[in-house]
Amino acid sequence: MKRRVVLLGPPGSGKGTVAERLESRHGLKHISTGRWFRREMSAGTELGRKVSEYIVRGELVPDPVVLGLIEHWVTEEVLQGGFLLDGFPRTRGQAVALDEFCARRQAAVEVVLYLECPDELVIERITGRRVCSACGSVYHERTMPPRKPGVCDKCGGKLVQRADDTAEVVNQRLEFYRRVTKPLVDYYRESAKLVTLNAALGSEAATAAASRVLES
Ligand code: AMP
Repeated sequence: MKRRVVLLGPPGSGKGTVAERLESRHGLKHISTGRWFRREMSAGTELGRKVSEYIVRGELVPDPVVLGLIEHWVTEEVLQGGFLLDGFPRTRGQAVALDEFCARRQAAVEVVLYLECPDELVIERITGRRVCSACGSVYHERTMPPRKPGVCDKCGGKLVQRADDTAEVVNQRLEFYRRVTKPLVDYYRESAKLVTLNAALGSEAATAAASRVLES
């Protein structure tokens, strides 16, 4: 069983949903840096204020800010129990820092799941996405609606559209993805950790395929 896992893919490829399902199926800790940042933003902390200027514009939070948080995300307990990193690393600098961080603790990343997904589908998924303002659970207006419109199935919280999920900001996020994050596909291919999954088939099929990879 592979326990130290990175999920890579464009925004809207289903990383969060697949990670949530793998977390409950395999008991690995789901770590979403975007969700962490959104929590800080809604709590109005200093970090939240700092990252929100980048997030609402669809830009990446600068590496020094992100890297300062690795130890909070990837604790010793998480390293030993296993993790699913969703949304981190997003730059080459972050990937190198993660490798060094894990190597120092003799707990290297074992597999990188690349959720490949065409642009048209990504845009459709992101602009239809709604998230719970209380617990962060993710829905889609058309493909994964809640039982009661606008209300989270899990906690009853209000569903909202993320400020960076609007059509205008999505293009900027995709631009950053193509230019800065996508080259990590080659970075991880070189270290033979990359496994490509077809995320266009939907999150259920992608989760099943991902599970098989983790169990192999
Ligand atoms: P996500 O929920 O993964 O789509 O992340 C939402 C936003 O948070 C991204 O568009 C970035 O602005 C920011 N963000 C999340 N993770 C990172 C990261 N590893 N590096 C830089 N920015 C990030």
